[in-house]
Amino acid sequence: MSEDFESAEDLRAWVEQGYHEPSAAERVAARQQTLRATELERRLEDEIDEIELGVRRRRRRRRVAVIAWVVVFALIAGLLARSLVRSDPATSAVWSSGDVTQARSPVGARPEPSPESPTPLGRPPAAPLESGRYQFASFQEGSEEPVAYDPCRPIRYVVNDTDLPDGLDETVESAVRRVSAATGLQFVREGATGEATGIGRDAFQPDRYGDRWAPVLIWWSNPDATPELEGPVAGFGGSVGLEITGIAQRARSVYVSGSVVLDGPQIGEILRTDPEGEAAAEAVVLHELAHVVGLGHVDDPTQLMNPESVRGVTDFAAGDRRGLRELGMGECFPQI
Ligand SMILES: [Zn+2]
Repeated sequence: MSEDFESAEDLRAWVEQGYHEPSAAERVAARQQTLRATELERRLEDEIDEIELGVRRRRRRRRVAVIAWVVVFALIAGLLARSLVRSDPATSAVWSSGDVTQARSPVGARPEPSPESPTPLGRPPAAPLESGRYQFASFQEGSEEPVAYDPCRPIRYVVNDTDLPDGLDETVESAVRRVSAATGLQFVREGATGEATGIGRDAFQPDRYGDRWAPVLIWWSNPDATPELEGPVAGFGGSVGLEITGIAQRARSVYVSGSVVLDGPQIGEILRTDPEGEAAAEAVVLHELAHVVGLGHVDDPTQLMNPESVRGVTDFAAGDRRGLRELGMGECFPQI
């Protein structure tokens, strides 16, 4: 809080710091900054009097004025945050751009908030040494920060294995463990479900799942039941976000439910005919689960999040892992 604002970027960064609710220490620091700016202004005025060039003099005065304005603005923003932080969460649409957008906005009905752990249940591993490309499925409003799941609660999931191919009984659990390891997010398998909904699935289904967000659905389907699986599409996945407004006037979004729909017959065929068999089949599930936790596609055939499968790429690569790591470090939302 004692920057000297050497550039416009510095100023902007400092202004943005004002958007969160300040702690007592930050309010004191901001006050000190105001006093310091006043002192700087006085000293600069003295210096300016000694400078003969009128042009230079005007520039200096303008710079001082900007510093003072930033400090005042930051304090006002802090006060606004205090009065707005308790407003009720509002719901609206955020959805992922997985292979096929599957989500319907949970507008309207929603479960009672159920805070769980006050701290994240897990932590992602260190970032890989190599670089690599990744993209997020959706972003926080006006920022490059991704929408993610709340790391303070487990991601619960159910499986509909109507079209589960022979030989892949362990595939979903294995893929879930790998996504969990790469993100630090914790998953809880709730067992089997008869739910068979794909695109447009409701994130809140009290009749089926009770007063809570519907668990993530992993559905082994087929192209007759799910027309979106016709042709080369082996699966799709994504999550539904809840937008929460009222925190310092900034909307924040968090995923609350999601789904993966898998083409059972096609993935069974991959298992039987692909030289990499089981690894290639599991890679489809892994790719779709990565959409669920918030990764989008990258046009890079070395990454698992390439939109089309590539022979030999059956595990997350460095870019995928960097993205998954960030998705495991989302904010906790006790109000969902
Ligand atoms: Zn995809």
